[in-house]
Amino acid sequence: MAPPPLLVDPEVEYRVILPEDRSQQAYPIDETQDVDAICRVTAYHRDDFDLVVVSRSQHRTDFLRMGLMGLILPVFWAADLGTLEKLPVEILMDIIRRLDFASVVRFLRVNRRARQVVAELPEYSFVVTHGLDTVLGLFEVRLASRFSLAQLDAVIRIGNCLRCGQFAGYVFLPTLERCCLRCLDTAMDFEVLVLTDAKAEKLWNSDRNGSLPFLRTKPGYYTFHDKYAHERGWLVPAKAVSPFIKFDRLTRFFRYMAATAQPHVTGRGHDVLVQRGIYCKSCLASVEKRVHAAGNSPDIPPLSCRVFSQEEYIKHFQWCRGAQAMWEASAGGTLPVEEPKLTRQRGAFRYRDFD
Ligand SMILES: [Zn+2]
Ligand SMILES: [Zn+2]
Repeated sequence: MAPPPLLVDPEVEYRVILPEDRSQQAYPIDETQDVDAICRVTAYHRDDFDLVVVSRSQHRTDFLRMGLMGLILPVFWAADLGTLEKLPVEILMDIIRRLDFASVVRFLRVNRRARQVVAELPEYSFVVTHGLDTVLGLFEVRLASRFSLAQLDAVIRIGNCLRCGQFAGYVFLPTLERCCLRCLDTAMDFEVLVLTDAKAEKLWNSDRNGSLPFLRTKPGYYTFHDKYAHERGWLVPAKAVSPFIKFDRLTRFFRYMAATAQPHVTGRGHDVLVQRGIYCKSCLASVEKRVHAAGNSPDIPPLSCRVFSQEEYIKHFQWCRGAQAMWEASAGGTLPVEEPKLTRQRGAFRYRDFD
């Protein structure tokens, strides 16, 4: 039986809700209502999606962060930068902003003075604090020398997918482009080729080898199943090789090896707002019910629900009857509410302890 059609309001796409789940009128939210609490009770972030792209354990992330801050390597006491000291510090900082990120990290490890200069750059602490997964991902797939500190700072501040305009919680590493998971899965711009296949099909032009953003894959989990990818290989974005490639035999598995989860961050200092993208709990429950009814696998329909920024989600909430009922049952976020196992766990975790 065909699923019921989605109702798409031509003006406000946030209202993409099945007809029977849609409220008759917009739920009133005044400024005194706690938007954070509404999001916490009725929406959730899919943590498992963030683990099928380039990632590592929290323990290892913390350890590597210390390395990026120059805290775990012996730092020489020498406290000057030789001839670089002749430059005004503002000019030196401007040069560092434009340096590729791998060189910035090499520079900060020179000595204590170099570490001090880099640490005083607000962009550096911002990128290491809020873009850590992207930075570490770039090092792990050997692309850290392709992008500058300024480019990394900029991509963290982009919140929407460059292809579809929806909230984008991921970065495609070879080109450092923002993307949503749906576009990472399906858009031709994010297709990647295994290098040996590209060579076998004579798509490889040795004159351009050095300029292409090819990446070394990192062993890890890149599917929702318990299957570990052990082997390392080289990938290259298909569009960088040739715009005339047939895409049919390639899989999302390789695309996930070329991307990392990246929150959208706005503001600076104490005024930062970090968003990882949220899904509606009620809409997921509704989709799950339909999947069960159709006799399909109860596994997560990964991309059947839309991901929102907090601001977008509140607009969705105003039309989503199930989410409103959940909020009311929580008595303003003070009582626990019934919700699917998947939303309670923030994803479907079948594996753990990678690295
Ligand atoms: Zn997209
Ligand atoms: Zn909803």
